[in-house]
Parts: sequence; structure tokens; C-alpha cells
Amino acid sequence: YNDFLKLIHPEDKEKVRNATHMVMQYGEDFKAELRAIWPDRSIHWIYLMGRLFYDIQGKPKEMIGIAIDITPSKVAEQELQETLKQLKRSNAELEQFAYVASHDLQEPLRMITSFLQLLQRRYEHQLDSDANEFIQFAVDGAARMQELVNDLLTYSRIGRKTGKFEDVNTEEILKQITFDSRVLIEEKNANISYENLPVVWADYTQLVQVFQNLISNSIKYNEQEQPTIHISAEKKVNDWIFKVEDNGIGIDSHHGDRVFKIFQRLHGRDEYEGTGIGLAIVKRIVEQHGGMIWYDSKPGEGSIFYFSIPQGDVKHEI
Ligand code: ADP
Repeated sequence: YNDFLKLIHPEDKEKVRNATHMVMQYGEDFKAELRAIWPDRSIHWIYLMGRLFYDIQGKPKEMIGIAIDITPSKVAEQELQETLKQLKRSNAELEQFAYVASHDLQEPLRMITSFLQLLQRRYEHQLDSDANEFIQFAVDGAARMQELVNDLLTYSRIGRKTGKFEDVNTEEILKQITFDSRVLIEEKNANISYENLPVVWADYTQLVQVFQNLISNSIKYNEQEQPTIHISAEKKVNDWIFKVEDNGIGIDSHHGDRVFKIFQRLHGRDEYEGTGIGLAIVKRIVEQHGGMIWYDSKPGEGSIFYFSIPQGDVKHEI
């Protein structure tokens, strides 16, 4: 036993003593993951498993077991942990950066916008039409930038916020959205229907944002007499798959995932208003819930946006 103990890395000797104690005291199997020092001084991770056998008088007789060299998988595991740690760190830094940048950009921007507007109001009649036009361009540019910075801030806030998970009735969400958007719905003569909507474990506010963005896109990118949107859900193994279906202008499939990228749009602002953040926000929220988002569409034939919200036995927090 002492010879065996000599092979063990000093920091792991305690583990061996503990495991031995459990065997002697309680008759449990010997199980330990520890570092051993080879004669060439190299360190190996080994997994030891043994069982104690007793003689007729019930005295411990011998221990039979196996030792497995688990160094390769242990090294891989450590590398993975290290990479994961680095990834988390750089992700957090990036989030912090986006947040600070968008937050701190707001103040100077507000100043530019308000002084440009002042200039416009006060000197409009003293300047020629060229100068007035230039000021107008600058005002538009600043307003546009403010919109983008606001969107960036909203986007980076999703990552920073630790969500409050609870049982969320998605039918209630749809009731709320159709009520809040009743003016727009009437204006566009839209028809929104839904069925089979479940209660899911999610962050309520974020899920409202998801449906809100998808539905407002379905109304916006639609040239029909009556934009028709249908929302439904289906349980597949551990996921609820939601479906938002419209009869709008559709999307050419070669655009692929581009629509989910931040500030990426398929249309100019002269065609449809927007900044291109909506679907990026939706994707981020869905992924924070452990789900996925995708779409199926053909130009002129409407679109179906799908997203999944996992409902495992283990309720997970962000
Ligand atoms: P925005 O609406 O501000 O442009 P989004 O991120 O919500 O930003 O959408 C990105 C692009 O995806 C839009 O510019 C549009 O071209 C396309 N798109 C999104 N939803 C639909 C839809 N339901 N039907 C057709 N095109 C859509």
C-alpha cells in the first residue's frame, strides 16, 4: 500500500486516504480519479476502481480492481474547460463593449441632433436652399444614427440581463399584442389568428418581444389587401415549436441566415422602414432560451418563421 501511495501525486494522496477510509469503514467500492507519477516523472491521470473481498471470518482479505489511464480524455477535458472560460470572458467583454459604446454614444448624439435642429429653426430664412438641404441631411443622418445606437443598446441589453424565468402563457401574450397593436392592425386591415398556444417556461418580457417583432414584420412586409397571420405551436419531444405564418412578400431562400444578422436588411428604407435589428433580437432571445430559429419562404408566397423553446425536465435559468 505504501509503495502504491508513493506513486501518487502529493496533492492527491488525501483522495486515496479518503477513498480507502470509505472502503474500510463502510465496505464501499474504491473509486478515485487521481494523478500518478510514472518512473519517468511524467504525470498521468488514472481512474482507480476496486472492491474489497473478505474471508470467512469477515476480515478484509484482498482488494481486486482496475486502473485505467484516462490522461488523454482528462487533457482534452481541461483544454475544453480552458477554452470555455476564455470564450465566456471574451463574450462578456464584447457585451460590455457594445453596451458602453451604445450607451455613451447617446449623449453626444443627442447634442448633435438638438443643435442641428436649433440651427435649422433659427437660421432657416437666412440660409439659401442648398444650406437648408445640407442641414436637413445632417439632421436625418443624426436621427438615423440615434435609431441605430438605440437598437444596439436594446440588443446588448438582452445579453446582460439575467432573465426571470416563469410559466408563461403564450396565448396571453398574443392577446396582449393584438390588443396593443389594434390601431396598426385596423390600419393595415390585418387578420391575426392563433391556436394551440401552450404555457412555457420562459422570460415573459423577452417572449413578448419575440412575437411582437415577428408579427410586426409579417404585417410590414405584406402587400395584400388583408395581411393574414396565423400563430400556432406543436410539441416535439422536449421542444415547443412555434410557427408564425404570413401571406406577405416572402424571402428569397438564397438570403439564408442573413436576415438574422444585426443591421442586415433585404430592403432599402425607401421601400420599408426599419433598421434590421428585429430578427437579430428575436434570434438572440430564442438562443438564450436554448432554442433555435429558422424560416421557410418563397418570394410572393408568404413566410413561415419557426422557433423552438426547449421544455426539458430541468428548468434552466439564463
Ligand atoms: P427590419 O424589419 O428592421 O428590416 P428585421 O431584422 O426584423 O429588420 O428583418 C430583417 C429583414 O428580413 C427585413 O429587412 C426584411 O427584408 C426581411 N423580413 C423579415 N421578416 C419578414 C417577413 N415576415 N416577410 C418578408 N421579409 C421579411
